[in-house]
Amino acid sequence: MLYYAEPVARLIEEFGKLPGIGPKTAQRLAFHLLNRDPGESRELARAIVDAREKIRYCSVCSNLTVNDPCNTCRDESRNRSVICVVEEPRDVVAVERTREFKGLYHVLQGTISPMEGVGPDELKIKELLARLQDSAVREIIVATNPNIEGEATAMYLARLIKPLGIKVTRIAHGLPVGGDLEYADEVTLSKAFEGRREL
Ligand SMILES: [Zn+2]
Repeated sequence: MLYYAEPVARLIEEFGKLPGIGPKTAQRLAFHLLNRDPGESRELARAIVDAREKIRYCSVCSNLTVNDPCNTCRDESRNRSVICVVEEPRDVVAVERTREFKGLYHVLQGTISPMEGVGPDELKIKELLARLQDSAVREIIVATNPNIEGEATAMYLARLIKPLGIKVTRIAHGLPVGGDLEYADEVTLSKAFEGRREL
């Protein structure tokens, strides 16, 4: 038995595929849009398609970007001797908000997690190593999240990179253990950078 007209059922189904959206929320979002001006739905649909089609990963740092290489990688005023390694694009935003870090970034797109079957090859580690060949990089600051996967990833990177004669540091634990970089306030995150220790 069909409870909803087909287009409504389809809309609910599509919303339900998004992370954190259960059937109840999917239904609520669908009915919300159906109650609003059609223009709002058009704007939403356009924003989704636009973002998906225009945004790609930077071929240097793997951050999300419209231009490749991204604006940060191209920015000649940034300090090219230090790269901050983070898990996700949203972590770049968190670090940028502190206005303390003036170096470059590298987005791993995840962390090493044996539990979830994510090994080093699934991450942008090869790309990071490629950046270190013949470059001016003197320090890698590992700013992965302070949890088991984040620590394991930091250790793995230190083992790979230290033999290249590049200093590898880890941001300090002013951050709550198990907390996410993106939820840390700017002062805490700045302090975590200041208090980084060598791995
Ligand atoms: Zn980039």
